Amino acid sequence: MPELPEVETVVRDLRPLLVGRTVEAMWAGEQKLRRPWKVMWPRKLVGTRVSEINRRGKWIIISLTSKARGRPPAGFLLVHLGMTGQFTVMPSADPIKDHTHFLFFLDNRTNLQYRDPRRFGSVEWFPPNTDVEKHLGEKLGPEPFGLPAQPFRDAVRASKRTLKAILLDQSVVAGVGNIYADESLHRAKLHPETRGADLTDAGCDRLRKAIEVVLTRAIDGRGSTIRDYVGGSGLRGGFQNEFAVYGRGGEGCPTCGAEVQVLRVAGRSSHFCPACQPR
Ligand SMILES: [Zn+2]
Repeated sequence: MPELPEVETVVRDLRPLLVGRTVEAMWAGEQKLRRPWKVMWPRKLVGTRVSEINRRGKWIIISLTSKARGRPPAGFLLVHLGMTGQFTVMPSADPIKDHTHFLFFLDNRTNLQYRDPRRFGSVEWFPPNTDVEKHLGEKLGPEPFGLPAQPFRDAVRASKRTLKAILLDQSVVAGVGNIYADESLHRAKLHPETRGADLTDAGCDRLRKAIEVVLTRAIDGRGSTIRDYVGGSGLRGGFQNEFAVYGRGGEGCPTCGAEVQVLRVAGRSSHFCPACQPR
């Protein structure tokens, strides 16, 4: 499932391909995604111009303006990649792949495509002046970069749940999923079943810094491709080759050589080193 580094890579790839382009026409498929697409939305969208593309947590927000003088706002597209979503700009002459659900035809012989074999993702339009944050469907905590120490300590220690569950929840920090939770806990030398309420100041600080370092390095590596993920220009990620523990059960820990173990925590497979991350 795409997490923050993958979604950030898509946004960075799409920005130069999309900002300033006008949507000249669009096509929406008939298969249902996680959230419904409404038949009146193309009329709102066609003729608008992309003014910005940004990320919040694992969500992509595309801001649109009208072509009228002074360019008033014309709404937003809110996109989630779900499990297998691919959001790319491709030449219009390229063949369209199976499982493509949306095509936005741009004014330079390219199109923005949304492809999603498992259909857990979504593409929605919202009118101007919408507080998009209210429609994300989850309470999102702060972005994980440059977080101040004390509020993070307080938020982690307010929970009796495991650190793995806290990281997956999104409300303490936005954007971390199964891969980067495991990688961050390994870097912070914390066991995934440690309770938030039991963490020391030093443990909280290690975790906060580990999340930031792991996500930054993953963005530098253009995210991780386990199966379907590609960036906004169709290229696969490279960070999967640098995992310390994720998906490496039974192999040696790169820090100490002990065998990486797999444990079910918070309903997900959790990969950790029993020597580096003692209970
Ligand atoms: Zn180790």
